[in-house]
Amino acid sequence: MAVGVRPRSELAVAAGLQVGMRGGITVNSRMQTSDPDIYAAGDCVEIPHLVSGKRTVFPLGSLANREGRVAADNIAGMVSELKGAVGSFIVKAFDLAVGCVGLPLATAQAEGFAADISWSSPMDRAHFFPDRGLLNIGLVFDRKSRKVLGLQGAGPANDALSVRIDAAAAAITAGAIIDDIGIIEMAYAPPFNSAIDPVNAAAYIADNLCLGLMRQINLADFNGWMADPSSHPDWLVIDVRHAIEAEPYMAKYGGQWLSLPYDQIRARYGELPVDKQLVIFCNAGSRSFEVQVFLAQCGIKNTVVVPGGFNLLHRMGVGWLPVE
Ligand SMILES: Cc1cc2nc3c(=O)[nH]c(=O)nc-3n(C[C@H](O)[C@H](O)[C@H](O)COP(=O)(O)OP(=O)(O)OC[C@H]3O[C@@H](n4cnc5c(N)ncnc54)[C@H](O)[C@@H]3O)c2cc1C
Repeated sequence: MAVGVRPRSELAVAAGLQVGMRGGITVNSRMQTSDPDIYAAGDCVEIPHLVSGKRTVFPLGSLANREGRVAADNIAGMVSELKGAVGSFIVKAFDLAVGCVGLPLATAQAEGFAADISWSSPMDRAHFFPDRGLLNIGLVFDRKSRKVLGLQGAGPANDALSVRIDAAAAAITAGAIIDDIGIIEMAYAPPFNSAIDPVNAAAYIADNLCLGLMRQINLADFNGWMADPSSHPDWLVIDVRHAIEAEPYMAKYGGQWLSLPYDQIRARYGELPVDKQLVIFCNAGSRSFEVQVFLAQCGIKNTVVVPGGFNLLHRMGVGWLPVE
C-alpha cells in the first residue's frame, strides 16, 4: 500500500518557475505557469480548492485531463479557464465504495469554518427493493452560513455512492447552501433510489442540526465512552430498536443500556431518568431523531442522538459493538 502524493516539480523549479506551498507548480486559470509561455497540467500543479479558496494539489486523472484540455485550448489560441476544483473522488475497496467531494470535517474545521457534519445511513434504493444496499453519507456544512463544504460516504461497490458524490460536486461547485442540496431533484424509481434521495435527506438532517431540532453526540465521544463506560456514569443509552436487537447490548452494558422500543415510547417515556444524559440509539438515526423530538415536546430535553446509528458504527468497525 502507498499513501500520499508529492508533485515532481524539480524541473520547473530548476527552470525558475514558481511553485506553491505543497510543491506544485503555480498556474493561473489558463494553466500558464509564472512564465506565460510555459503551461503545466496534471499532478504537478497546484490549483485553487473552490471550497477553502486555497491552492492545493489534486492528484486526479479526471482533473489532469481537464487541465490538459484547458492548457491545449489556450496554447491553440482559444480562451479557456479552470477556476479550481472540489476534488471529487471515488475508490473501490473490495466490496466497498468510498468517496468524497469538498472538505472532510476535520479539514473544514482546520480551515476555520464553523463546520459540522450530518451523518445518515440510508438505503441506496427503495427499502422494499430486494438488492438494496447500505449507504453512509456525511454532509459537511457551515453552521453559520449554511454553506455546504463537502460530502463523504461509503456504500456498496456499485454506482449508488458515485451518483451522490456527483450531485454534491455540482452543487458545491455552484456554491450551494444546505437548502439547495435539499431540493436537488434526484431521479427516483425503486430499482435506483428512494423517494427521498440520501443527498436530500442529508440536507434535511443538516437543516435540523442548524435549527437545533436535532442534537447529536460526537461519534468519537460516544465510541470513547462505550469503550470506557466509567468515563461518563451519568450517560444512559436509550435503545429504541426492537427489544430483541437491544438484548445483546443490555447483556453487555447492563446499567448503561436501556431498551425502550420506538412503538412503546409514548406509553413509557415517564420511566426515563431525568438526571441522566440520554443517548438515543437506533439503526440509522431517523427513529432516534423522532424520539428526540417527541421527548422534547414532553419537556425531556437532556437527549442526544447517535447519528447514523448502528449501521454507521458497524461499517466503521467500532470494537465495542456486541457480536450480532
Ligand atoms: C494506481 C493508480 C490509480 C489511480 N486511479 C485513479 C482513478 O481511479 N481516478 C482518478 O481520477 N485518478 C486516478 N489516479 C491518478 C491519475 O492516474 C493521475 O492523477 C494522472 O495520471 C495524472 O496525470 P499526469 O499527466 O499529471 O501524470 P502521469 O499520468 O503520471 O503522466 C506523466 C508521464 O510523464 C512521464 N515522465 C516522467 N518523467 C519524465 C521525463 N523526465 N521525461 C519524459 N517523460 C517523463 C511518465 O512516464 C508519465 O507517462 C490513479 C493513480 C494511480 C497511481
